[in-house]
This record gives sequence, C-alpha cells and structure tokens, in this order.
Amino acid sequence: MIGTVRLERSVAAALPRLAAAALPREACGLLTGRRAGGVLLLDGLAPSRNLAAGEGSFEIDAALHLRLQRSTRAVAAVWHSHPRGGPTPSARDAAGAWDAGLVWLITAGDATTAWLPLGEGLGFAPLPLELA
Ligand SMILES: [Zn+2]
Repeated sequence: MIGTVRLERSVAAALPRLAAAALPREACGLLTGRRAGGVLLLDGLAPSRNLAAGEGSFEIDAALHLRLQRSTRAVAAVWHSHPRGGPTPSARDAAGAWDAGLVWLITAGDATTAWLPLGEGLGFAPLPLELA
C-alpha cells in the first residue's frame, strides 16, 4: 500500500505552470517514479495533449502512455488540472478512475493533491503529499 506520495520539487513547480498554460481547458499528463516501502516518489513528468472534447474533462494520449510504459516501466501517476473549483476529484473523475494501479494528482491554482482510486465507481481516498 502507498502511504505517502513524495513529489520532486521541480515537478511540483511545473504543474501549476502547465495548468495555467492550458486554460480554459484542463491540462493533463503522466508522472513516473518508484516505490520505496510505503512511499511513492514521483520524479518524472510527461505532459500529454488533452484529447477530451469538452472543457471540463481530460483524456491522456494513450500512445504517450504506452511509449512511456515501454521506455521506463515506471508510469506511476496520472495528473490533471481543474481550471475551476478545488483540487478534489469530480464526479466525472470518479467515473473515470478505472486503473487502480495509478495514483491521481490534481492541481487547482497553486495547490496539488494526491488521490488513490478505490476501484471503478468507488471514488478516491486522499493521500498525503509532500515535496522531495
Ligand atoms: Zn478532474
């Protein structure tokens, strides 16, 4: 079980900038990292095009995901931004949390939070997030 998410500082700093650049749409991407005990260290960021059609949603480029998984085998988290509202999962996010193997990170403004999907349709549990 993952007890804590540790985010490398340069990655943490990049997320609000990417989110701002994507406005009014959601920004999204994948993070790579590794687990040590109950800690998940995230130290790599691969921004994705947002393939979703609407403004209030996101869809990671599956080709990017596959490429990254093949080259690093370390895709550990999915990230997106909320242009409106806070950094907590929306109803749409809960419906889309199909892969329990990936931690979710959400950025709103300068705040980023981490979430553990509990399974399809079951929502998320919050995870402590600290900077490395
Ligand atoms: Zn969302």
